[in-house]
Amino acid sequence: MSEERHGFEAEVSKILHMMVHSVYSEREVFIRELVSNASDACDKLRYEAITTPDLIADNPDFAIHMTADPEAKTLVISDNGIGMDRDEMIENLGTIARSGTSKFAEQLSGDAKQDVSLIGQFGVGFYSAFMVADKVDVLSKKAGSDKAHEWSSDGLGEFVIRDAEKASRGTDIIMHLKDDAEEFLERFRLEHIVKTYSDHVAVPITLSIVGEETKKGDDDEEAEDPSKTPLNTASALWLRAKSDISDEQYNEFYRSVSHAFDDPSLTLHYKAEGVLEYSVLLYIPTNRPHDLFDPARKSRVKLYVRRVFISDECEDIIPSYLRFMRGVIDSQDLPLNISREMLQNNPVVTRIRKAVTNKILSTLEKTAEKQPEEYAKIWDAFGPVIKEGLYEDHERRESLLKLTRFKSTHSDDWTSLADYVSRMKDKQNEIYYITGPNEAAVRNSPQLEGFKDRDIEVLLLSDPVDDFWLTMVGDFDGKPLKSVTKGGVNLDDVAEKANKDDKADNANEDEVSALIAILKDKLGEQVKDVRSSGRLSSSAVCLVADDNDMDMHLERLLSAQNAGSLKAKRILEINPSHNLIKAMASKAKDGQGFDDFEDWSLLLLDQAKILEGDELDDVAAFAKRMSKVMASGIA
Ligand code: ADP
Ligand code: MG
Repeated sequence: MSEERHGFEAEVSKILHMMVHSVYSEREVFIRELVSNASDACDKLRYEAITTPDLIADNPDFAIHMTADPEAKTLVISDNGIGMDRDEMIENLGTIARSGTSKFAEQLSGDAKQDVSLIGQFGVGFYSAFMVADKVDVLSKKAGSDKAHEWSSDGLGEFVIRDAEKASRGTDIIMHLKDDAEEFLERFRLEHIVKTYSDHVAVPITLSIVGEETKKGDDDEEAEDPSKTPLNTASALWLRAKSDISDEQYNEFYRSVSHAFDDPSLTLHYKAEGVLEYSVLLYIPTNRPHDLFDPARKSRVKLYVRRVFISDECEDIIPSYLRFMRGVIDSQDLPLNISREMLQNNPVVTRIRKAVTNKILSTLEKTAEKQPEEYAKIWDAFGPVIKEGLYEDHERRESLLKLTRFKSTHSDDWTSLADYVSRMKDKQNEIYYITGPNEAAVRNSPQLEGFKDRDIEVLLLSDPVDDFWLTMVGDFDGKPLKSVTKGGVNLDDVAEKANKDDKADNANEDEVSALIAILKDKLGEQVKDVRSSGRLSSSAVCLVADDNDMDMHLERLLSAQNAGSLKAKRILEINPSHNLIKAMASKAKDGQGFDDFEDWSLLLLDQAKILEGDELDDVAAFAKRMSKVMASGIA
């Protein structure tokens, strides 16, 4: 009876347009996507059946079956999983924008290979059927219901939904193949694709070809019926012995659990036996997953209990700062009927988390030691996330500090704190660092000049998280971490200038004191103090934070989040060996040109602010002053 038409949601239309008009050579991934949906549907029902066994009483064996009909040019992928009711079909297959859909649409680049690789990642796998089909019907009956419905669309703008008949629970995806997609009707081709992409799927996948002759010798009852022989290994990969798993199988499983297209950069597979028993198969991706910096910071590791999928949103199973890990943890000890809510604060989960976290960190440490190049790639991609642990995982701060890598004034490659310490000057007691918005900006900071002259190494930090963990971590190996943009320094006590001829030709001290007095007077409340600098060589001025104040970059980050927050006043440091400062100092001593000092002082301060990346309070006034001073210089 009732037949309804629905328009696709706008973002979905965009995606469908891409699928319908695709000329991709990687089209075969649609099978991986539909099989993965079928397997998810079986997982969901298996989980529901723990509390409601009746749901599967009539047909307890989960299965995925493919039927190719060369005559009708249809390929059907059927499962006896949870199925969908009418509303679910409408929601899941086209009208409600799901979170991944718009992100996917945003990232479409037009580059075929890249776009196809995004399909699974963003949870838009179902629509990939339209790469090979010009019409798709979905026939589904929800487990426990006696009603079935059919969804049908050519992918061009709308879909139709109507009541239908279906004998048993589950879902059939019926694809009417495009003329150029007939390869997906061939047994050899289909077997190969399933073996390649879906071997690890834990539900058996079988295939029949309509019209295919089955060898049936009269006296050979045992002859294998190809339509009943699973194409896949159909066992949980993580429970198999390492020696039975090839690299390719490991990698394919990774791509499947994480909906990714890259290879893992690290694979961790082991079984814990002792008080608690569980199996772990975890991966570190090569590329950053698209949701890595989502504010929710959710873990994606899948939790299974005795091979039954429980949840991929168990936040307690792995800390947020390892949220880039993908894979499976399968526990023997949790009760099967554990509800997702009960997973929170569950003592077994907590103990697994603790042990798995330690194992991950020790594996990373080993990798850093034995394969430093591999580790550098991992750090490139995930270092900014791992560093969140320095802030929130007190217990493991020491191990995390060992894993942390830095850029520095002494190298373009990553360096560890231990390496930094081994390079410290004889009389150096502190580990120097600078933070800023990006590596280029920090590398060129005026505050580094004096350090560079003396060949004192400074760590360059430019991830937003750095300012936060640095407030929590005071020292490494007994050496305090010290910001070069904060507090006073006397670098001559640490090391002499590398080039001794380069001895600073400073303005005389009386002149500098006279200048400082005038600057303090002119700048008044705008600065906390004015002083002669030990850290500058080529720049005239810089700003630094007082010892007890917040680091300047952190303050900027916080005030960006919290407009109108109060800022601490800065100390203006002047370089007594700089020509400009020398000229001003000598005028200050002579008592000449006092009228001009107002403009000059403000220009010096604005210059220091610009170098620091601060916004000027009054840009127009700055431009006016600058023009005036330039004009008098030219005249
Ligand atoms: P994802 O699998 O990442 O959620 P898809 O586009 O592949 O995204 O599928 C969309 C949704 O449609 C699924 O989340 C599921 O709710 C529903 N669905 C798709 N295929 C099936 C199926 N065979 N059985 C039951 N539900 C399905
Ligand atoms: Mg899917």
